[in-house]
Amino acid sequence: MSELITVNPKEKQKGFFSENLLINRLPLDHKSTFEKIKKIKITENDYIIKKYVLAYESYFKNKNNNEIIPGDIDRIELEKLEGENLKRYLEYRYKYKIYPNEKILEDYPPCVQVEPTSVCNYRCVMCYQKDRTFSKKSSGHMGNMKLELFKKIVDELEGNVEAITLASRGEPMLNLEIIDMLNYCSNKFLALKMNTNGSMLNEKKIHKILSSNLNTIVFSVDSADKENYEKIRVNGNFEKVYSNIKLFSEIKNKHYSDSDIIIRISGVKINNIQNIDSMKDQWQEYADILAFTNYTPWQSSYENEINKISSPCSELWRRMFLWWDGKINPCDFDYKTVLKTGDFDIKKSHNIKKAWNSEIYNNLRTKHLENSRKKVNPCNKCIMI
Ligand code: SF4
Repeated sequence: MSELITVNPKEKQKGFFSENLLINRLPLDHKSTFEKIKKIKITENDYIIKKYVLAYESYFKNKNNNEIIPGDIDRIELEKLEGENLKRYLEYRYKYKIYPNEKILEDYPPCVQVEPTSVCNYRCVMCYQKDRTFSKKSSGHMGNMKLELFKKIVDELEGNVEAITLASRGEPMLNLEIIDMLNYCSNKFLALKMNTNGSMLNEKKIHKILSSNLNTIVFSVDSADKENYEKIRVNGNFEKVYSNIKLFSEIKNKHYSDSDIIIRISGVKINNIQNIDSMKDQWQEYADILAFTNYTPWQSSYENEINKISSPCSELWRRMFLWWDGKINPCDFDYKTVLKTGDFDIKKSHNIKKAWNSEIYNNLRTKHLENSRKKVNPCNKCIMI
């Protein structure tokens, strides 16, 4: 393991620790958010929206905060939404946060990650791209998603899933059809996000991204200084990435001042030298949100020690991953698809719905619920709860 990785978390939950998060864009305040929610036409079946109303009433009466109350990032995302779109967004956030706790399954997952490519130009110290049995060409794991497959995936997701992230095991901008992919998603989702290391941007691509309907762009950057950045993001060039992100922000401000796109700069917290204050000095000007996500040892998923975690993994009720070749997987900790839960076959319909509710996916969930996670490889070496 790299000497740069000095943290050794025993468990990992989704979300950010407050000390690892800095919001530069003022979110809508709670009072205005509640006013917007109260304007939604609520019908008898809208039990989720009713829960928001009850949660906010209790929040204003007793200062009772609870998981349902939208956090800062949620309130930035929902600021421009009204009526039916606001309702859809709130329902998605509820499902994302609460369904994994309550073990509720619907026809579709609350969120789907689609990887345009599994290829990456970086070899970060905390990433599975370092595993040559995964990232060498002959491994069979490397490739780019074809636009035809991508479109079929989006066709099934539209109207059934609100949150799509274009990213997973590779660098999305390496797929030469990424702009067509972004354009094909236009106005189909309420939370369309893309993660990128920022190395492949240029002026033309930035204009294309900003002209698309992308809601959030996440630049993966772990450090405020060149030396540490390049030690962590192996093959990365700090000056290049800095100038690309700066250019992205400048073009947005100059030519797309009405754009609602949220710019997040986000690293992985692998040691205690990294901190939000130093990130702030370097990056604050160019981002709405600065954050560190919690580290999990992905670079050695199959070699980690078997741990004692017995609680079910929340990802099994929250997210699904679609690889470039149509394979369906429950997570990217299992980057070699040992747990594979389906295939997307472009000749068939309802591939995602069938996979999400398949026997193989449900058997995996049952094992987690029945305290048998320790018998499942690599869940027994994974810290996600
Ligand atoms: S390896 Fe298992 S426990 Fe870890 S994220 Fe994937 S499904 Fe969850």
